[in-house]
Amino acid sequence: MEMVKVTVDGQTVEVPKGSTILAAAKKAGIKIPTLCHHEDLNVNAMCRICVVEVVGARTLQAACSQPVSDGMVIITNSPAVRQARKMNLELLLSNHPQDCLNCVRNQRCELQTLADQLGVQQQRFGTKTRPEYPKDDSAAALVRDPDKCILCRRCVEVCHDVQSVGAIAPANRGIKTQILPAGGVDLNNVACVQCGQCTLVCPVGALYEQDHTERVWAALADPEKHVVVQTAPAIRVSIGEEFGMEPGQVTTGQLVAALRRLGFDRVFDTDFTADLTIIEEGHELIDRLNNGGVLPMITSCSPGWIKFIEHFYPEYLDHLSTCKSPQQMFGALAKTYYAEKAGLDPKDIYVVSIMPCTAKKFECGRPEMSSTGYPDVDAVLTTRELGKMLRQAGIVFSELPEEQYDEPFGITTGAGVIFGASGGVMEAALRTVYEVVTNETLPSVDFTAVRGIEGIKEAEVDLKGTKVKVAVANGLGNARKLMDLIKEGKADYQFIEIMCCPGGCIGGGGQPIPTTNEIRKKRIEAIYEADADLPLRKSHENPAVKTLYEEFLDKPLGEKSHQLLHTHYTKRNKYPQKSVG
Ligand code: SF4
Ligand code: SF4
Ligand code: SF4
Repeated sequence: MEMVKVTVDGQTVEVPKGSTILAAAKKAGIKIPTLCHHEDLNVNAMCRICVVEVVGARTLQAACSQPVSDGMVIITNSPAVRQARKMNLELLLSNHPQDCLNCVRNQRCELQTLADQLGVQQQRFGTKTRPEYPKDDSAAALVRDPDKCILCRRCVEVCHDVQSVGAIAPANRGIKTQILPAGGVDLNNVACVQCGQCTLVCPVGALYEQDHTERVWAALADPEKHVVVQTAPAIRVSIGEEFGMEPGQVTTGQLVAALRRLGFDRVFDTDFTADLTIIEEGHELIDRLNNGGVLPMITSCSPGWIKFIEHFYPEYLDHLSTCKSPQQMFGALAKTYYAEKAGLDPKDIYVVSIMPCTAKKFECGRPEMSSTGYPDVDAVLTTRELGKMLRQAGIVFSELPEEQYDEPFGITTGAGVIFGASGGVMEAALRTVYEVVTNETLPSVDFTAVRGIEGIKEAEVDLKGTKVKVAVANGLGNARKLMDLIKEGKADYQFIEIMCCPGGCIGGGGQPIPTTNEIRKKRIEAIYEADADLPLRKSHENPAVKTLYEEFLDKPLGEKSHQLLHTHYTKRNKYPQKSVG
């Protein structure tokens, strides 16, 4: 790699040719302030907060986009630089509602932090020139507040380049420029999959999840309600970040303790129904392999992915496993099996999910997700919303003791835990399918070929003579590549796992901000650490799942399973629909 030498504020550093000034300054230990820049996205140099002086250049340069050249001399902290940055920020703020106290991002907002960092203490440029825009809360999972938008375009990049959805785009010009759903309609009327990846990268309070915290507080305060909570696999490795802990820490026991202190009547683990999903989905795969069913079979536990295939590849819906997601399986069992066991009327049971995902809010409202006669799940809190509720309750997360989940949905295996990372559902399925088909014990439970953050992974498994070729994709841009291979008849896989969000659920749209690729990797390591620490690591060894079949479901793919645990899918439009009302 060719290296160049540059001087940043008097220090000489060597960096690869083509590096940006921002990267060179970082090497010199200097953090240049940025706003539109995001480390996982393409640079777009929209905000000019990162300007620096380059000796010999006639104008200030944007550090995020300007590459260094050999011998370049850079000054990051001159009066001219400080004045320009502050002025650029003040101009942005002059068109921004001064509404921090009422804002979802108060104290967690990059614009607010920058204003403090750059010493903005008064509003010099008074009159707001941009028109005011109403909020768009049409979507089940997300809210757009265009008034707060600073037009940085991070959301556009993630939606187009990472997710390949293209639900939102810049529209109009000058002071009328906005980021709008395609066709200018409401977000609910475009092919937005409600993944929330845009909420993870938005620096301000212009995109965020629909708030379910108030309805959960109300249920917890209602003496008529028996309120149960389930925690998705990925929460245990991310909730600590809401309280300033380093990414990559496993906090399962504290999470359980925190939820008890909030007042939930029972604290259960979605990992239990992740194990159950593997039993049902594994048998579905074996049935398709043996009986000429539609292949490749594709996993169905990621609701953003389900909405994506419904919009963009509706002719392939029969490739999807018919299994509901673990969240929905849990809800259906809570209002039947658990209700019976606990002697409760299902109408009095209120099911709350803690999910890393915004799309789960959409999923729980799907009409087909109420096979018990009641909604399987009543409210979905993202990791961020749970953090907010725990702070409101004054719970000091880091000081909580480790507690155990409640039975019967608290006994889980490592296979359930790894659902939280890309490749985890595939690995969990292979651990079970191998032993069910071959009747032999796996030599090693670790299928490392399907682990990690890489966009598309492949592996081949020998089931005693029958070779099964599998693929794993995370992020919808990668899912689209796999679907196009299927469309072209070039995919010779039997089983595919697709997760909507980059890295899988550990990188879900409801996870703590920031969520970057570096942080995703740390959360993935923690997931496999949690898996390795459990005494049971295969779903079919979960004793509570065995009891569930003995006492209630009878057998995998049986009548009760079909009624409660399986579902169907809906063809949706790819193009914007007219707004209603
Ligand atoms: S987006 Fe940030 S600066 Fe704007 S109102 Fe919200 S907290 Fe304040
Ligand atoms: S939720 Fe996902 S699909 Fe919808 S606008 Fe945001 S990034 Fe795009
Ligand atoms: S909605 Fe957020 S991420 Fe998108 S352009 Fe506006 S400020 Fe940037």
